[in-house]
Amino acid sequence: MARCEVCGNDYGMTFEVHAQGAVHVFDCFSCAIHRMAPICEHCRVQIIGQGVEVDGHWYCGAHCSRAEGRVGIVDNV
Ligand SMILES: [Zn+2]
Ligand SMILES: [Zn+2]
Repeated sequence: MARCEVCGNDYGMTFEVHAQGAVHVFDCFSCAIHRMAPICEHCRVQIIGQGVEVDGHWYCGAHCSRAEGRVGIVDNV
Protein backbone atom coordinates (compact mmCIF):
# COMPACT_ATOMS: atom_id res chain seq x y z
CA MET A 1 0.00 0.00 0.00
CA ALA A 2 1.28 3.41 -0.87
CA ARG A 3 -0.06 6.92 -0.94
CA CYS A 4 -0.36 9.00 -4.10
CA GLU A 5 2.07 11.88 -3.84
CA VAL A 6 -0.23 14.24 -5.74
CA CYS A 7 -3.67 13.79 -4.16
CA GLY A 8 -2.73 11.76 -1.06
CA ASN A 9 -5.09 8.91 -1.91
CA ASP A 10 -4.19 5.75 0.01
CA TYR A 11 -4.94 3.10 -2.56
CA GLY A 12 -4.03 -0.54 -3.10
CA MET A 13 -3.39 -0.20 -6.83
CA THR A 14 -0.87 2.61 -6.80
CA PHE A 15 2.01 2.40 -9.24
CA GLU A 16 5.53 3.76 -9.28
CA VAL A 17 7.18 5.89 -11.91
CA HIS A 18 10.96 5.91 -11.95
CA ALA A 19 12.36 9.05 -13.50
CA GLN A 20 15.77 10.66 -13.30
CA GLY A 21 16.79 8.58 -10.29
CA ALA A 22 13.67 9.38 -8.26
CA VAL A 23 10.66 7.16 -7.57
CA HIS A 24 7.20 8.71 -7.69
CA VAL A 25 4.02 7.03 -6.46
CA PHE A 26 0.64 7.72 -8.04
CA ASP A 27 -2.85 6.25 -7.82
CA CYS A 28 -3.88 7.14 -11.37
CA PHE A 29 -2.49 8.47 -14.61
CA SER A 30 -4.09 11.87 -14.25
CA CYS A 31 -2.10 12.39 -11.04
CA ALA A 32 1.06 11.12 -12.74
CA ILE A 33 0.53 13.50 -15.65
CA HIS A 34 -0.15 16.35 -13.26
CA ARG A 35 3.20 15.78 -11.56
CA MET A 36 5.39 14.50 -14.39
CA ALA A 37 4.31 16.23 -17.58
CA PRO A 38 6.42 19.20 -18.54
CA ILE A 39 4.63 22.45 -19.41
CA CYS A 40 5.05 24.00 -22.84
CA GLU A 41 6.88 27.26 -22.26
CA HIS A 42 4.96 28.98 -25.05
CA CYS A 43 1.31 27.93 -24.80
CA ARG A 44 1.42 26.46 -21.22
CA VAL A 45 -0.24 23.21 -22.22
CA GLN A 46 0.87 20.09 -20.36
CA ILE A 47 2.95 17.95 -22.68
CA ILE A 48 1.49 14.45 -22.67
CA GLY A 49 3.08 13.31 -25.90
CA GLN A 50 6.72 13.50 -26.81
CA GLY A 51 7.08 17.24 -27.02
CA VAL A 52 10.37 18.83 -27.92
CA GLU A 53 13.24 19.91 -25.70
CA VAL A 54 15.59 22.67 -26.80
CA ASP A 55 18.48 23.74 -24.60
CA GLY A 56 16.62 22.64 -21.47
CA HIS A 57 13.34 24.32 -22.47
CA TRP A 58 10.22 22.26 -23.13
CA TYR A 59 7.63 22.88 -25.84
CA CYS A 60 4.62 20.89 -27.00
CA GLY A 61 5.79 20.94 -30.59
CA ALA A 62 7.99 22.55 -33.19
CA HIS A 63 5.48 25.35 -33.73
CA CYS A 64 5.81 26.58 -30.14
CA SER A 65 9.59 26.20 -30.14
CA ARG A 66 9.78 28.39 -33.24
CA ALA A 67 7.37 30.89 -31.72
CA GLU A 68 9.87 31.28 -28.87
CA GLY A 69 12.71 31.78 -31.31
CA ARG A 70 14.15 28.25 -31.16
CA VAL A 71 15.23 27.13 -34.59
CA GLY A 72 16.14 23.80 -36.10
CA ILE A 73 13.25 21.80 -34.64
CA VAL A 74 11.04 19.89 -37.07
CA ASP A 75 8.09 17.70 -36.12
CA ASN A 76 8.66 14.08 -37.08
CA VAL A 77 5.21 13.46 -38.49
ZN1 LIG B 1 -3.62 10.76 -6.95
ZN1 LIG C 1 2.91 24.79 -26.97
